[in-house]
Amino acid sequence: MFTEKINHFIDNFLYFCICLINLMKLKTKTIHSAYQSKDAYGALAMPVYHTAAYEFENAEIMSDAFCSRVAMPDYSRVTNPTVIYFEKRVKEITGASAVYGLTSGMAAISNALLSICQSGDNIVTSNHLFGNTWLLMSKTFARLGIEARFCNLCNPDEVKAAIDERTCCVYAEIISNPLQEVADLQALAQIVHSKGKLLLADTTMIPFTRFSAKALGVDLELVSSTKYVSGGASTIGGLVIDYSCGSAFNERMQEMMLNLGAYMTPHVAYMQTLGLENLEARYALESANTMELAERLCTLPAIKYVNYTGLEGNPYHKIASRQFNNTYGAMICIELESPEACFRFLNNLKLIKRATNLFDNRTLAIHPASTIFGNFSKQELKAMDISETCIRLSVGLEDVDDLFEDISQALK
Ligand SMILES: *Cc1c(COP(=O)(O)O)cnc(C)c1O
Repeated sequence: MFTEKINHFIDNFLYFCICLINLMKLKTKTIHSAYQSKDAYGALAMPVYHTAAYEFENAEIMSDAFCSRVAMPDYSRVTNPTVIYFEKRVKEITGASAVYGLTSGMAAISNALLSICQSGDNIVTSNHLFGNTWLLMSKTFARLGIEARFCNLCNPDEVKAAIDERTCCVYAEIISNPLQEVADLQALAQIVHSKGKLLLADTTMIPFTRFSAKALGVDLELVSSTKYVSGGASTIGGLVIDYSCGSAFNERMQEMMLNLGAYMTPHVAYMQTLGLENLEARYALESANTMELAERLCTLPAIKYVNYTGLEGNPYHKIASRQFNNTYGAMICIELESPEACFRFLNNLKLIKRATNLFDNRTLAIHPASTIFGNFSKQELKAMDISETCIRLSVGLEDVDDLFEDISQALK
């Protein structure tokens, strides 16, 4: 009885906080989202609950917690107050019905897909996917009897034709990596929903503070929070952001957390909450840097093509502008003369780091064909349209003059 009253009070109090937070503007929300309960010491920074387990006052409460009759953490493989806080912040920013923190972007993608697909189903998607997502679908899921149907997501007729009664979802990346292809999400959502299916989108390329995947019709948003959210490349993490409002999906995700064990750890949630607090400030600078750098790179004759959707001549410029509110991310792909020229360029860099990862505070450069896709077969590379002469740049917070200078000297 007493715990019921307390719970009722907490529920009302939380509702009050949610009403307050909904009135705030986004930048304020990313900083001022209230912690679930008051810290014993009034700590201003979020407390980090580095604990595997939780003690219970009595057997009744313990049973209630384990059977989800009360929302209390019972074991950190499935629930932890620090992770819950991080999830709550993302929920308030995106307006999602639920948010799940996972150990990596790949964990978010695989757990979400395993929650909705079963043997005999198919996923309608594109060959232009992040390398490991492509392998997950074409190798790992293929072994489990889940078929990946690769088609051109920019062609609605192809998508329509690929969907059948065993299709569990259509899966898209909002700006494909490294090709930077942009599908029309609203057009996809219309097709997908008219057939009673779900639209899943990996939105890692543009921060969820800048556009609403929900407003474009996405049902499940998947994010590698390793990238923009963590910022300084501090930690690996992933998010499943649910707009489907389906309790069936929630039940399945809980099952995945329990049985697959890929829930985010409290330390990562802490680091990524710090990242979330300055995400807007970092992104404003990074995206402005990227735009300026892309324009200046177009003047260098050693670069055969500058691929960035922010450039007016880019084939996806219009659709990207409309969908992402005139922001285009912080990744540029450049085409050089030959694979040897790519290696020479990387070896000549003095300031820019030779590294994978995206949206670090530092600018990074990589030759995807010989690294990320280095062990892919010729056939696979051809299917995915991976260019052997492409260098991928992830633009950081440095002064653009210094970045341009380093790139110019490395091309000589
Ligand atoms: C990095 C990345 C992933 C995988 O995320 P991890 O956190 O490295 O597991 C998935 N999709 C895209 C678009 C990415 O850039």
